[in-house]
Amino acid sequence: MRPTGKLHLGHLVGALENWVALQNEYQNYHLIADYHALTTNLDTAHIQQNSTDMLIDWLAAGLDPERSPMFRQSQIKEHTELHLIFSMLITAARLERNPAVKEQVRDLHIENVSYGHLGYPVLQAADILLYRGDLVPVGEDQVPHVEITREIARRFNLQYGKVFPEPEAKLTKFARLPGLDGPDRKMSKSTGNTILLADSTDEISRKMRSAVTDPKKVRKNDPGRPEVCLVFTYHQKFNSQEQDEIAANCRIGALGCVECKTRIASAIAHQLEPVREKRAYYESHPAKVQEVLIDGEKRARARAQETMGDVRTAMAIG
Ligand code: SF4
Repeated sequence: MRPTGKLHLGHLVGALENWVALQNEYQNYHLIADYHALTTNLDTAHIQQNSTDMLIDWLAAGLDPERSPMFRQSQIKEHTELHLIFSMLITAARLERNPAVKEQVRDLHIENVSYGHLGYPVLQAADILLYRGDLVPVGEDQVPHVEITREIARRFNLQYGKVFPEPEAKLTKFARLPGLDGPDRKMSKSTGNTILLADSTDEISRKMRSAVTDPKKVRKNDPGRPEVCLVFTYHQKFNSQEQDEIAANCRIGALGCVECKTRIASAIAHQLEPVREKRAYYESHPAKVQEVLIDGEKRARARAQETMGDVRTAMAIG
């Protein structure tokens, strides 16, 4: 995950909940992709703070550093080394066809794509294969990148002998949570339509008051359509035991949007309470957060060095 600072509900639903569940079944590696952040923003002033904020949210959401190493990409030099070798195994034309980069260029209005930006799926391939990852938990939009990783692994194994697995994408169940500004808008920090894991109960209520609802339900007693309402999507995810009653009362005009929003805000605040408590603990114990990184980086480095040893042997280099 790129270090974008404090995480929001979209991250919780789209990634963190899944990672927490997976740590019971697999050996996980959690990478703070600080080099990847440079592909679209060269300003590094906030990378360190953003990395710490994100790590605190990971811990607060329930990731266990004893089971799953958490580390910064920039601190494991083998990522850049393997990236260089992999960059010889894929053509520029193949990378130019990658739909995810095309979308980013369009959405961020990038006029000239840098060499590093075009090649970031190659760095991702190194991130995954350095740890011989065989499953990559991703949303649908990242599947093309996992495919590039598979192609690179195959190409390497064919050329030098088998070192790498061909990893599979493991799709997240509830991949996309809409933002507060509409059911077809992704929750995203850049558009400011988020609820942060760190938000207080008051902040959640205040933000929820601005959430878009069914535009045809103007007055409290107008019948509404929960199926087109953003707030109802949140009820489905965070207040599922009341969703049938809410849908029925919305449809007959017995429930107003103000009350409906108050109810979902309080359900979300209640669910985030343990996360906020853990967050506050780590914020007031920065040395513990540093320890998590130092220990995670030591374990990740050992695994990365082992892989690079096998890579050099297979290639008869050095
Ligand atoms: S009552 Fe609730 S579900 Fe119905 S339109 Fe208003 S906010 Fe949406």
